[in-house]
Amino acid sequence: MNKDVQDRMNASDKQLTTREKIIHCLEAAPMTARDLSKELRISEKDAYAHLPSIEKSIKHQGKQIKTIPCYCLSCGFVFKDRKSFKKPGKCPECRQSRIEAAVFGVVPD
Ligand SMILES: [Zn+2]
Repeated sequence: MNKDVQDRMNASDKQLTTREKIIHCLEAAPMTARDLSKELRISEKDAYAHLPSIEKSIKHQGKQIKTIPCYCLSCGFVFKDRKSFKKPGKCPECRQSRIEAAVFGVVPD
């Protein structure tokens, strides 16, 4: 393989930031933060932490993050109006903490 090609391959590998990788993943298929953490070998906390800035940066590309909201596994309460991407600790209805994680996708605006 000639050096030029090799350089370019290395570059394309390295230049993708974690945020870009998350965007790629979420464009390909909707995922939870846990799916992202497994896929990209980052912590779930990091995956959540990247989402607000990703939402801002993809706006300029005419895209948005589509969220399938978390819901309570105990009573079925859906966290529809949640402003944060993070998973809630407890259900406001039944106070249980068995919460199913939200699923995120990147879709055209
Ligand atoms: Zn509940």
